[in-house]
Amino acid sequence: SDTVLEVKNLVTTFRINKKEYPVIRDISFEIHENETLCMVGESGCGKSVTTLSVMGLLPENGAVRSGSIKLCGEELLGMSPRQLGQVRGKKMGMIFQEPMTSLNPLLTIGYQLTEGLRQHLGMSKAEAHATAVSYLEKVGIANAEERMKQYPFQLSGGLRQRIMIAMMMSLQPRLLIADEPTTALDVTIQKQVLLLLNRLKQDMKTGILFITHDLGVVAQIADRVIVLYSGSKVEEGATRQIFENPLHPYTNGLIAAVPNVDSDEFEIRPIPGTFPSITEEIGGCRFHPRCPYATERCRQEVPQALEYEPGHFVACHKVEEENK
Ligand code: SF4
Ligand code: MG
Repeated sequence: SDTVLEVKNLVTTFRINKKEYPVIRDISFEIHENETLCMVGESGCGKSVTTLSVMGLLPENGAVRSGSIKLCGEELLGMSPRQLGQVRGKKMGMIFQEPMTSLNPLLTIGYQLTEGLRQHLGMSKAEAHATAVSYLEKVGIANAEERMKQYPFQLSGGLRQRIMIAMMMSLQPRLLIADEPTTALDVTIQKQVLLLLNRLKQDMKTGILFITHDLGVVAQIADRVIVLYSGSKVEEGATRQIFENPLHPYTNGLIAAVPNVDSDEFEIRPIPGTFPSITEEIGGCRFHPRCPYATERCRQEVPQALEYEPGHFVACHKVEEENK
């Protein structure tokens, strides 16, 4: 099958002051080969917690309470930390906002690039070195042999991020998880990085889970989009469906702020009202305190996701009633 990641009915909770609160409230989604799925939403909506759940890297007070997470058909929940570590090394790549935290400051670039190739792909030292250099060149890094000898602090943020991508590409992951990987980069470098990720996707049929709060980035890289609000998936669809025909009032609020999808900079506009904290109990639709269309039904009943055009899902009572 061409499904790389299948997440079903995921519930993740966090313990705060001895009480347990749901942070991910029953989310399901799939990522296929050669597909980039963007997850968008305000900070605190559960984007990063979703990725940490998939990677098995939740903090001490977090736990997956139910659901299923399958990578290439293999269930990850219930694996021992050691098994999970092996799967991560072999099949998953990760890049984060600040590559300084993912690169070891004490080791040379060359060591870090070749270590994974030797460990996970069983290459000899010479083979791993040649492969690493070729991937540095692939991501447009000049003087690759010289760079191999340097330490992370000797390089700019843009270079470090490209090195992280070279490292990920060389390991040929089935799934790449990218959490705000371009947020700290200037626009030109950001464009290069997005192009590289696109190439990785196409050349290696990698499935990419891309987390961002920047709709401009979404427009440039996503094949499909999931909009999260306070731990729930409120809308899902092809990128075109989300930008041209957003149906959920929350998605509409986000998209309405976008003057021009091709413009270099537009971030998610703060929409009126405050984002609920995870400890806040809200009945029915969790968006109702901020929604201009909220009715009594919205305050009582949690809306279920329904499909309005092929692949376009929305969880909203108003949309449901308008499309009866
Ligand atoms: Fe607004 Fe009701 Fe739809 Fe929630 S279910 S987004 S409150 S209209
Ligand atoms: Mg985050």
